[in-house]
Amino acid sequence: RAKMQQRAGHFYFSRSMGIEIRERVRMMHALRTGFSQGQLFVVYQPQIDLTTRRPVGAEALLRWQTPDGKFISPDRFIPIAEYSGIIIELGEWVLRTACRELVQLREQGHRNFVMSINVSQVQFRHPLFLDMLRAALEETQAPPEFIELEITESMAMEEPDLLIKMLWQIKQTGVSIAIDDFGTGFSSLSYLQRLQVDRLKIDRAFVTEITGSARGSSIAEMVIQLGRNLGLSVIAEGVEDERQAQILQALGCPLAQGFLFARPMTAAALGNWLNNETVAGAA
Ligand code: C2E
Ligand code: MG
Ligand code: MG
Ligand code: MG
Repeated sequence: RAKMQQRAGHFYFSRSMGIEIRERVRMMHALRTGFSQGQLFVVYQPQIDLTTRRPVGAEALLRWQTPDGKFISPDRFIPIAEYSGIIIELGEWVLRTACRELVQLREQGHRNFVMSINVSQVQFRHPLFLDMLRAALEETQAPPEFIELEITESMAMEEPDLLIKMLWQIKQTGVSIAIDDFGTGFSSLSYLQRLQVDRLKIDRAFVTEITGSARGSSIAEMVIQLGRNLGLSVIAEGVEDERQAQILQALGCPLAQGFLFARPMTAAALGNWLNNETVAGAA
């Protein structure tokens, strides 16, 4: 006890950690219950061709609404889902849900639409990940060439050899790979070249910067250039205003996603939105 008081800083640190852990455990139980009670659902945010301004695909994003009506951000609950392992089950459910939704959209005539699905590093490292992916594709009958998996750049920085092997195996199923939040890490050109990736997603932070200072566009510009040099597709995330869209287009960025074009929406709303977009585009 005396020793603890002597190291007051240490004591307080431990105590706040205790509260943090208790909060995490509480949320973990709530998440497990919430998932089994259908409180989680998937929304879809359209991705746009910057030249034609037409939708080319959507990103599936997880939502959690508790019975009191409050939304808990995935930035808060995904880490808990990862920490507790629930992400394995949850991630599989998101994948299957998004695959089924893609099949439905195709039946409604949206046949070139690509579905992008986030994959956590915990899921990715699971020994049965590939089996899970193959089973989900087969059972939902989703065409792999219209499915894209998003992995984060931080994931790409660890264990290069393992990652290269995994990506190669994933590519064998026919799905493509995007690196999410790109630009935040320091992936080298030579390393990127060895990875079987198809697309780079420019992190929202660098999209926000482009309308700021004169040098604000340098990272976005670098990623677009990198994509061009490596023959990879590039998409800008978090495009909120027309100026950003125009600068990105001028820099040669082919694709974009953000509130300017559409917010994430339910599957039913996406179906309607796409039908309206198609009508508007054809008129
Ligand atoms: P992310 O994969 O980088 O997803 C993009 C995030 O940016 C989404 O936040 C999206 O709603 C938001 N966003 C899109 N356009 C704009 C914009 O114009 N302005 C602003 N301010 N934000 C925009 P969300 O849905 O809250 O998701 C946050 C993160 O949680 C995701 O970042 C992803 O890392 C993770 N996440 C979401 N769903 C899943 C999932 O099913 N599985 C896994 N493993 N992670 C997920
Ligand atoms: Mg993403
Ligand atoms: Mg992102
Ligand atoms: Mg993110």
